[in-house]
Amino acid sequence: MILRDDSNENEGELLAKVIKGEIPYHRIDSLTDKETAVRIRRCAIESSYGVKLEHLSMCSLDLEDATKRNIENMIGAIQVPLGVAGPLKVKGEFAEGSYHVPLATTEGALVASVNRGCSVITGSDGSNVRIFQDVMTRAPVFKLDDVVRAREFADWVKRPEVFSRLKDKASQTTRFGELVGVEPYVTGNTVYLRFSYDTKDAMGMNMVTIATEALAALIEDEFGAIPISLSGNMCTDKKPASINTIMGRGKTVVADVVIPKSVVEERLKCKPETMADVNYRKNLLGSARAGALGYNAHAANIIAAMFIACGQDAAHVVEGSTAITTMELTKYGDLYCSVTIPSLAVGTVGGGTGLGPQGDCLRLLGVKGSGNPPGTNSKKLAEIVAAAVLAGEISLIGAQAAGHLARAHAELGR
Ligand code: NAP
Repeated sequence: MILRDDSNENEGELLAKVIKGEIPYHRIDSLTDKETAVRIRRCAIESSYGVKLEHLSMCSLDLEDATKRNIENMIGAIQVPLGVAGPLKVKGEFAEGSYHVPLATTEGALVASVNRGCSVITGSDGSNVRIFQDVMTRAPVFKLDDVVRAREFADWVKRPEVFSRLKDKASQTTRFGELVGVEPYVTGNTVYLRFSYDTKDAMGMNMVTIATEALAALIEDEFGAIPISLSGNMCTDKKPASINTIMGRGKTVVADVVIPKSVVEERLKCKPETMADVNYRKNLLGSARAGALGYNAHAANIIAAMFIACGQDAAHVVEGSTAITTMELTKYGDLYCSVTIPSLAVGTVGGGTGLGPQGDCLRLLGVKGSGNPPGTNSKKLAEIVAAAVLAGEISLIGAQAAGHLARAHAELGR
């Protein structure tokens, strides 16, 4: 037991007071060291609910760091099984080579399936990947008197000299972030300014929120538009939204591969035309009929597993899941497959990327920390994620084309 010098409580007394409700959970951190605080909270919860939480105590995280940056009221850590799929050959502009992709999941058969997709892609000389846009957005909402003022505001914010002042202001809040665009959207006397930033290796949500707060103050001072909320939901963060699928948010990334007919037949035990037909009727027609935003088989599965492994913000799986998968026959009878992810929010600095196990996974992919030049590590990670999503799509559509899906789950016992 380690207590801070300025505390005269011992651990038992502190625990008793927490259980009685005399000390709230969030105050314990200021009364003792982090390890003791975590233990006291966990013991108090155990005592209050009459449960034993032995697994939650097993944790190799740096508690000082985690409680400072990542979590409040910490009581332990969840362990999620981690597997690897690969080698996956990626031919991107930032990721060039073969990778073993870390996947943290409790869904049996997922890693096996992605692994099979990786072997198909690698056996087809790898996946091309390109990033078409890279901006993180924040869209504050302003109230104007009427539509006349709203129009003046929308015109004002697009003036080059105004944009240049906004850019300067944003640059005072960050060494790495850069304001690259603003798009006004009007609803009656309400105006949303969707600001876009290059956030380099950071996923960027904190960075752009801090910068946008400074911009909202400048706008209020100079134009008199009243900021109502720093986020007006047109960003759109962590909610499914067409604006992200059309305009992009985070990285807009596309991966493709041509799988020779022989590889489809040998490794996926089906025919290219059957896979193209399953993809058309399921991923395209079925998704359209369902009114889905994502036209894919299970992009969220791979994105969630990689995000958890690599310390990404798991709520951004929402945006990532709006991928579109295409499959068509080439003139030689081979299978062209692609996946387009309009809105992939990834970073290799900040957020959960500094935690020990998550950092290990980023190191495995060669993307931990700041890239040289800045921005190249997060782009490399995005390219690997896109290629891994493509592997997942190919394997699952292949299994459905061959009628293997239920059997694979049954054989793996889940
Ligand atoms: P962050 O940790 O807040 O910011 C990144 C930090 O890394 C900045 O301090 C930046 O410096 C520094 N940095 C060092 N090298 C860099 C490089 N090569 N490229 C870019 N930055 C570099 O991380 P964030 O990505 O902006 O935010 C991620 C966190 O935001 C996650 O924990 C997520 O859950 C959370 N989040 C926040 C909101 C929100 O509204 N605030 C919403 C959703 C999620 P500078 O300080 O000089 O820029």
